[in-house]
Amino acid sequence: MPEGPSQLRDRTNDAEPSVRIGHGYDLHRLEPITPAGAGRPLILGGIAIPHTSGPVAHSDGDALLHAVTDAILGALGLPDIGQSFPDNDPANAGADSSRFLIHAMQTARSLGWCVTNLDATVILERPRLSPHKEAIRANIATLLGIDGSRVNVKGKTHERVDAVGEGRAIEVHAVVLLSRLMR
Ligand code: MG
Repeated sequence: MPEGPSQLRDRTNDAEPSVRIGHGYDLHRLEPITPAGAGRPLILGGIAIPHTSGPVAHSDGDALLHAVTDAILGALGLPDIGQSFPDNDPANAGADSSRFLIHAMQTARSLGWCVTNLDATVILERPRLSPHKEAIRANIATLLGIDGSRVNVKGKTHERVDAVGEGRAIEVHAVVLLSRLMR
């Protein structure tokens, strides 16, 4: 007789896990910065990046902090950033996205979790991310309250293909590993 789902249940997994993984993704349309278009100034990881176009967004449009926030909330199994901070709430208009990340981090801590490491990929055709990467890494580490060595931010282009490659959008992927806080 083949085993049924109830027989496959691993009782050792009834114990509280010591790690949890989360993935976050975000995309924002890019437009020339207001008043030339509807774009806000480009901010990534809390760092202002000089550029002629920026994200169309209700908040400050920091796609990197949005993806990291969603990765933490996802690891915790909690509602995502859009549910926690709705884009029709006037309180979030133009909001500094650091606020969202700090909230997610405080929630993680209160539930007994800390960030072991974070790895993120920013896909942006222009400008190049490399001159800003260290500042971004340091700022995210400060926001998370962890050492910079645990935060990694990679920049890629989209090889001039599709909306991202044509400079009309920015995409970010983030993966975070949470571990049980030592008590
Ligand atoms: Mg977003």
